[in-house]
Amino acid sequence: MFGHSQETETSPVVEEIFYPAQQRIKTVCVFGGARPGRDASLVAAADMLGELIAAAGIRLVYGGGCDGLMGAVATGAARGGAHVIAITPRFLLETMSMPDGCQTIMVPDMSIRKQLMFDHADAFIALPGGIGTIEELSEVLTHRKLARHAKPIVLASFGGFWTPWLAMLDHLAEQEFMSADISLAQLVTDCPRQVLPMLQRGASFRTRDYMPAA
Ligand code: AMP
Repeated sequence: MFGHSQETETSPVVEEIFYPAQQRIKTVCVFGGARPGRDASLVAAADMLGELIAAAGIRLVYGGGCDGLMGAVATGAARGGAHVIAITPRFLLETMSMPDGCQTIMVPDMSIRKQLMFDHADAFIALPGGIGTIEELSEVLTHRKLARHAKPIVLASFGGFWTPWLAMLDHLAEQEFMSADISLAQLVTDCPRQVLPMLQRGASFRTRDYMPAA
């Protein structure tokens, strides 16, 4: 879905997509649990990350609302004066309150929301979360693997949250369902203060199997 490809009767099946070299990050998209989870320190870490995003002068795009870790990062960012953009499907909007000053974009469904979040963002952060977060994170990683984008991605593994999921990915590589060349280790930090510097350094993995040599 990413990359704006549209196959028509007249267009070639194989397309060329140009992605400019990474520039300073202006807008970050944050995925994260719609629930707070049981560890209050994760909420505090998400809130702190929001404040750091604001202090860095970076816009935040996220799924909307004040609930859970996604709400905590948005609340922290809004409190710090960041431009916060909530992209929310109509069916969820009716049940949500938004952080103060938040710009809300209503979309018809979850797929369009994900596309719009992707389009707005220069980089991605995955906070701890549930299957919605895993779905969003998996999609940007998959499209990165396929060289459909070159946007940095960081897993905010507060309290080691993502360790079991990363072990699952090691299992995929060990079973040869994933290239062993794709190491996510350089995308992971348990420290809120490390997240933005990692993104600014362009945290990503090589896509040697898919991209032409530079
Ligand atoms: P989950 O990790 O399952 O709690 O899902 C959270 C992620 O999926 C967020 O990054 C949102 O973009 C999206 N999402 C799922 N459920 C909701 C919800 N109730 N409110 C807002 N966003 C949600």
